[in-house]
Amino acid sequence: MKILSVNAGSSSLKFQLYEMPEEKVLISGVFERIGIENSFYTVKINGEKVEKKVELPNHKVAFQILIDELKENNVVEDLSEIKGIGHRVVQGGAYFDKTEVVTEDVISKIDELSSLAPLHNPAAITGIRAAQEVVPNAIQTVVFDTAFHQTMEEETYLYAVPYEWYTKYKVRRYGAHGTSHKYVALRANELLGKEDTKLITCHIGNGASISAIKNGKCINTSMGLTPNAGLIMGTRCGDIDATIIPYIMEKTGMTPKEIDNALNKQSGLLGISGVSSDARDIEAGIKDNNKRCILARNMYVKRVVEYIAKYYVELGGCDAIIFTAGVGENSISIREKIIEGLLPLGVELDKEANNVRGKEALITSKDSSIPVFIIPTDEEVMIARDTYFFCK
Ligand code: AMP
Repeated sequence: MKILSVNAGSSSLKFQLYEMPEEKVLISGVFERIGIENSFYTVKINGEKVEKKVELPNHKVAFQILIDELKENNVVEDLSEIKGIGHRVVQGGAYFDKTEVVTEDVISKIDELSSLAPLHNPAAITGIRAAQEVVPNAIQTVVFDTAFHQTMEEETYLYAVPYEWYTKYKVRRYGAHGTSHKYVALRANELLGKEDTKLITCHIGNGASISAIKNGKCINTSMGLTPNAGLIMGTRCGDIDATIIPYIMEKTGMTPKEIDNALNKQSGLLGISGVSSDARDIEAGIKDNNKRCILARNMYVKRVVEYIAKYYVELGGCDAIIFTAGVGENSISIREKIIEGLLPLGVELDKEANNVRGKEALITSKDSSIPVFIIPTDEEVMIARDTYFFCK
C-alpha cells in the first residue's frame, strides 16, 4: 500500500512516498520558495537527486507537480494507489493527543491553534487543502508534534503565572518534536530489548529539545508554549528570565513583534557567537580560537547537561540517553563535550565509537553508568506508520 508523508511549511513542502508496511521509500522530494520568486524543487529516486526550476505560486501547484512526478517516474500509475496522506502539524494544543483522520472539525481546531504556531499551522492547512483537491479519495491524517507530550502531568505543563492565562488563553507547556522523540524512544527500547525504560532523548538540531520518557510516555519536555523554551538553539534563546522582555522593550522601544523576532531569530548560537546559527560554523570558529564561538558552544553544552541532569532526577535514573537530529547525529565535538559534562553521573565516552556521523551507534564505554546512543531520527516514517494504521 502506498502512503504519502507530507510536511508543509509556509513556503516549502517536503514529501516521501512509502510502500507500507515495508516502510520502503519509493520517492522523496522538497518544493522550496513556494509563493516567492526563483522557486524550485528536488526529487530523489533510486539514490539520484534531480533539481528543477519551476514557478510555484502556491501549495496546490506544488502538490499537482508532486503527483505528476510520481506518475512520470512510474512510481504510481493511478492516483487510487495512494491510500493515505499523512500531514505533519506543529501545534495540536490540548485537543490532540494522537494522530487523527482529517475532518472539517479537525481543520477548524488546527486553525484555531494558529496563534500558537503562526508560521506552521496555517501552512499545514494549506498542504491539507491542496492534497484534498488533488487526491480526493485518499484518507488524510494529521500527525502532531505536540501529541506525544500530552501525557505530561498538570504540575509539569503549567507555568506559575496567573491561572486565568491557562484557562482563558491556553498558556501551558505543549512541547514540540514529539514525533521525533517518540521515534527514537521506540528504537532505543528495541536496542535495550525492553519497554519499561527510563529514557532521555535529545533532539538537537537547528531547533532543539529534550524529553524525559518513562515506559514509552513523555513525562517532561524542554520546549514550552512555543518552540522557544528550554535549550539554546541555532537562533532561539531557550529559557530566559521572562522579565528581560519588558526590560528591553522599555529600554529600546522595541515592539512585541520585534522582540519576538530577536528572541527567535537573532539569539541562540547566532546571538552569542555573532558568527552563525550553524554548529559547523561555530566549530570552525573554535578552531580559529574565536572566543565568542567557544562561549556559544560552552553555553549550548551546559544547557543540555543541565536538562539531562534534571530529567535524570525526575525519572529516578536513566536506562539510556539518545542523541538525534542535525547536531546530535553529526557533531562529534558537541557530543563529546556534553558527555564530559555528565561525568558526575558516571557517563563515560568511547572516543572511537563517537567518531561517527549520521549513523546509529553506541558511543559510551562498557563501564559507562548509562549507555548513550546516536539514533538518526525519522519523523516521516512515523507519519507513514500512523497513516497506514488508518488505511489498512
Ligand atoms: P536539523 O535542524 O536537525 O536539520 O539540524 C541542522 C543543524 O545540524 C545545522 O544547523 C548544524 O548546526 C547541525 N549540523 C549538521 N551537520 C553537522 C555536522 N557535520 N557537524 C556539526 N553540526 C552539524
